[in-house]
Amino acid sequence: MKRKYMMLSIMISGPKQPRNDIDDYLNPLIEDLQLLWNEGVDVFDAFKNESFRLHLMLFCTTNDFPAYGKLSGYSVKGHRACPICEEKTSYEQLKHGRKTVYLGHRRFLKKYHPYRRLRKAFNGYEEYEICPTPLNGLEIYEKIKNVNVTFEKMKKKQTVNEIWNKRSIFFLSSVLV
Ligand SMILES: [Zn+2]
Repeated sequence: MKRKYMMLSIMISGPKQPRNDIDDYLNPLIEDLQLLWNEGVDVFDAFKNESFRLHLMLFCTTNDFPAYGKLSGYSVKGHRACPICEEKTSYEQLKHGRKTVYLGHRRFLKKYHPYRRLRKAFNGYEEYEICPTPLNGLEIYEKIKNVNVTFEKMKKKQTVNEIWNKRSIFFLSSVLV
């Protein structure tokens, strides 16, 4: 079996951010992905002069952090903004600007990385903490399976778990099909 990689870019423009409604835009893509994964389509290879059955899977998405939030349904703002650390997100509230800043990135370094011992260059302390383990797909599914998905047009907020505001359309199609 030959593997080929291709890239699909999507840009959603408009005066307002799509939030959970992004799933409306993604729906046709999901349908295509399901067809291409389950059944595949016959495609003609002009170079080899033969046709073959093409199957396709979504390998990853590349996006900025706000778009990550919209795609995954994870709240990327506030005191639990880090999707890896979740409740253990390291943050500090600035006294004057009242902004939330995120710290503690050195815990993602190797155990004996020299930066862990630097005090002055960072927050004045050495870093001994180790980084949290990212959740796997099933663990995330356990968290989001009962989340009530609310679209903008339904306005009223009915968030069950405040750090997850929807089941990702990518996730749903891969778990439940
Ligand atoms: Zn984190």
